[in-house]
Amino acid sequence: MRRNLVAGNWKMHGGLVANQRLLADVVLGAATLGRIELAVFVPFPYLAQTQSLLSPTAIAWGAQNLSEHAKGAFTGEVSAAMLGDFACRYVLVGHSERRSLFGDTDAKVVAKVEAALAHGLRPVLCVGETLAEREAGSTMEVVGAQLAAVLDRVGVAAFAQVVLAYEPVWAIGTGRTASAEQAQEVHAGLRQQLAVLDADVAAGVRIVYGGSVKPDNAAELFAKPDIDGGLIGGAALVAEDFLKICRAAGE
Ligand code: PEP
Repeated sequence: MRRNLVAGNWKMHGGLVANQRLLADVVLGAATLGRIELAVFVPFPYLAQTQSLLSPTAIAWGAQNLSEHAKGAFTGEVSAAMLGDFACRYVLVGHSERRSLFGDTDAKVVAKVEAALAHGLRPVLCVGETLAEREAGSTMEVVGAQLAAVLDRVGVAAFAQVVLAYEPVWAIGTGRTASAEQAQEVHAGLRQQLAVLDADVAAGVRIVYGGSVKPDNAAELFAKPDIDGGLIGGAALVAEDFLKICRAAGE
């Protein structure tokens, strides 16, 4: 029933020439993919280029962050309405790099989710535990609290528009991925947390996994019942690898 989503998070990589080539290759390869949805999260300056190259295709695009404010004296910030001007379908919220490096607290993440929803953008809400938290056995407590912070404020019905991304911090950019069983356990726990409030919303929410997904581990992860695709960092910068991962999600 849920359609898998594979989304590339380019982080602070790219350039006009490189993007053109990467997107052209992805568009070409995507033509033969099955029922999955594709998206790319590009740096702000490349939203116009991405919009122009992807508008004729079914591939979605979005930004990696947004301001919680609507407008005003917030130098360097980008609002939800501005992202709407570039026809973004999605926006990443609460990526662990934003949480750890740029002060995105749970309160800020909640406000950003609200700003996105108010402007018709679908937030991809990232949650994940650190290695110390996993080793202390508090993974579900940590990701559950990150989800609850948003849930308590926006309500479960809003999750019809939200994609959840489980991204263990220790697996992002490290080459060390969660096992399919570890990921499935967390995904099922997150879905259960929603199901307590609304079984239909829980059944429809896509929960994607992120953290060193590569062509050789994607199929095993995506075969799990509660893993509905992936958020892909490093491997999304190489068209061939990204497309192999997309194919694994279409099987
Ligand atoms: C990410 O940036 O969200 C990510 C999952 O990165 P990587 O695939 O490189 O671990």
